[in-house]
Amino acid sequence: MFEKVLIANRGEIALRIHRACREMGIRTVAVHSTADNDAMHVRLADEAVCIGPPSAKDSYLNKAAILSAATITGADAIHPGYGFLSENADFAQMVEEHGFAFIGPSPDHIRMMGDKITAKQAAKSAGLPCVPGSDGALDTEEVALATAETVGYPVLIKATAGGGGKGMKVARSADELREAYRLARNEAKAAFGNDEVYMEKYLGKPRHIEMQILADNYGAVVHLGERDCSLQRRHQKVLEEAPSPALNSAQRERIGEIARNAVKKLGYRNAGTLEFLFENGEFYFIEMNTRLQVEHPITEAITGIDLVREQIRIAAGAPLGYGQEDIRFQGHAIECRINAEDPQTFIPSPGRIVGYHAPGGLGVRVDSGMYAGYRIPPHYDSMIAKLIVSGNSRNEAMMRLRRALGEYVIDGIKTTLPLHQRLVNDSDFLNGDYDIHWLEKFVEQHS
Ligand code: ADP
Repeated sequence: MFEKVLIANRGEIALRIHRACREMGIRTVAVHSTADNDAMHVRLADEAVCIGPPSAKDSYLNKAAILSAATITGADAIHPGYGFLSENADFAQMVEEHGFAFIGPSPDHIRMMGDKITAKQAAKSAGLPCVPGSDGALDTEEVALATAETVGYPVLIKATAGGGGKGMKVARSADELREAYRLARNEAKAAFGNDEVYMEKYLGKPRHIEMQILADNYGAVVHLGERDCSLQRRHQKVLEEAPSPALNSAQRERIGEIARNAVKKLGYRNAGTLEFLFENGEFYFIEMNTRLQVEHPITEAITGIDLVREQIRIAAGAPLGYGQEDIRFQGHAIECRINAEDPQTFIPSPGRIVGYHAPGGLGVRVDSGMYAGYRIPPHYDSMIAKLIVSGNSRNEAMMRLRRALGEYVIDGIKTTLPLHQRLVNDSDFLNGDYDIHWLEKFVEQHS
């Protein structure tokens, strides 16, 4: 087992990784920018190394600085968390070339899945059902128009290098497509430095269902059930639950087996997530995330499996040690992402936390680096906490979530807590009756 792990991230996920390491008797190295000198994960880690100024490109994305920090502290392995360098194949490769273990999949798998066109091709050949669309990149507007005729409107233009919902445009007619094609390419160029785009049929009322998988280095693969992440704003997840209220047990078993077999065929290792859209009883693969996900705690809550611990064990060469038949699903879990944003306008609201009280009690988990007096820096993502509740049934989890949201005090900044409080009193949400477009309408109605 590793003796020392460097955590190449910040915020709640850095703390989450530190906690898993500490429980495994592994020492931790925090790396941080000057804006994060007072961050909780920096305070708790065994060692801390400042790797640069606030701007992420000079610190959390600075590969050379992170590798130097690993060298001088004598770390054995690097955990990239999510975001930042977590899906950067070149970084994973550099980590390995410098003699450290990368806590994640192989650079080749990261590369394959990071390009959405090669990802879809690999997924198809591994037996995953995909959203109908273009076979590859749309090199010209003419190709886009011709493809849309065969796929059928409405269509969605997506960026090959996409992430965070950027470079995605819907078109309902040829006229709209000309515009969408141009806008998507420009947006993709600006966001990813790569303007390659492809096309998918735009599904009208799908749910976003994703399967968590774990695979060791010896071909053992298990799935840990699904998460329903349909509650989104601007293609970004806001609240997630597991299991999905929309799947029956036959559908759950079917997609679980499809996902497991595909991951086996791909020879993938470590933790990963296959994302699908689900409409009229059918699943359509959209992408694979080759890293830990923000919403992983709801899977931990219903399976009792510590995903970060499993990632570390697998990276250290340990076999999974259990099979699919050993996985037991218990109860229901819900996660709320709490952002430092105005709950009406979603304008970021960084600043100093004046008063802080986190909820607790049975079935309540808060993953956050916040504390009273902490100043949230303006340079990074606005998610500042995750509230995760679990219960024996969806109803119990819902009652608990309402109770926990009511206890949560974050004073000094604006947060999206009021949005979640409204959600847990909405009858559509309580009935599990929502698709990927539902939250946008809900937000509009309440603004
Ligand atoms: P990103 O990597 O940018 O997050 P994804 O491919 O994961 O992009 O899609 C993000 C979200 O966009 C999905 O969860 C879904 O809400 C929506 N979406 C993606 N593809 C389609 C599609 N073909 N039809 C309708 N909505 C889609």
